[in-house]
Amino acid sequence: MSGMVMLGDVIDSIRMLAILYAFFVGLIMGSFLNVVALRLKDGETLMGRSYCYACGHQIRWYDNIPVVSYLWLRGKCRDCGISISWQYPAMELVTGMVYALTVASFFVLDSPSSWLETIWFLVVVSLFIIIAAYDLRNMEIPLAPLAVAGALTMFSYAIQYAISGEPFWQSRLGLGVAGGVMVGAFFFALVFASRETWMGWGDVWLGLVCGLIVGIPAALFMLTTSFAVGAATGIVGIASGNKHLKSQIPFAPFLVFGTVTSLFLFALFPSLRTFFFL
Ligand SMILES: [Zn+2]
Repeated sequence: MSGMVMLGDVIDSIRMLAILYAFFVGLIMGSFLNVVALRLKDGETLMGRSYCYACGHQIRWYDNIPVVSYLWLRGKCRDCGISISWQYPAMELVTGMVYALTVASFFVLDSPSSWLETIWFLVVVSLFIIIAAYDLRNMEIPLAPLAVAGALTMFSYAIQYAISGEPFWQSRLGLGVAGGVMVGAFFFALVFASRETWMGWGDVWLGLVCGLIVGIPAALFMLTTSFAVGAATGIVGIASGNKHLKSQIPFAPFLVFGTVTSLFLFALFPSLRTFFFL
C-alpha cells in the first residue's frame, strides 16, 4: 500500500485542513468583530489601528495576536498595566470554534451549494457575534447587523427555493418564514404583556430573524435551549450573589447561542428533524 493514496483520504485530509484553517481565521475574526461591536456604539470608523482604551497607546502588532498575546501579557496593557478584559480572548476562542464547527457541519468539498451555505452561515454567525457582544455591553440590540443577517438569510433561502422547486411549506424558505413568525409572535407577546420589563422590542426582531434562520421544527429546540441556558446562567448569578431576581440580563447572547447550537445539531444529525416533528 505504500505510495498509494486513496482519493477519499485526500478529500478527508482537505476537510480536516479546512476545519483547522477556519479555526485560525475565526480567532482573527473574533478579535475584529469585537472591535466592530465596540466602535459601532460610538460610530467610530473601522479604519485605523487598535489602541488601549485606558492610555490611548497604539497596540503593537505583536501584542495583537489573538489569545496568545493576552496570555503572554498576562492580561495587562504593556504601556499602562491596566487589566484587559478576559472577554477579548474568550470571544476570539468562541469565534474560532464556531467557524471550525461551521465548516465541519456545512462544508462538503464536492458540493458547490454547500460552499455557498458555509459562506452564508459564516457571515450570519459573524453578525450574530457582533449583536451578542453589543447587547452584553450596552443592553441593547443593534438593528443594522440584525437587518443585514435577516435580509441575507431571506435572499439565500429564496434562491434555494427557486432552484430546488420543492413545495413552499417543505422548503427552508417556507419553514423559515413559519419559524420567524412563531418566535417573533412569542417574543412580541412577552414584551407586550410585560410592558417591556422582561425584554425589549429589539428581542422581538432578533427572535424573528433567529426563527427565520432555523425554521420549524428547530425553532422550538432553539427557544428551549436559549431559555434553559439563560435561566441556568441567571441561577448561577443569583447563587454567587452577583445578580438578584430583578437584575436585567441581556438576552441576545442566549438567543444567539440557541440559534447557532440548533443549526449545528440539525445539520450534523438530520434525524433530529423527524424526532422533533414527532
Ligand atoms: Zn494602556
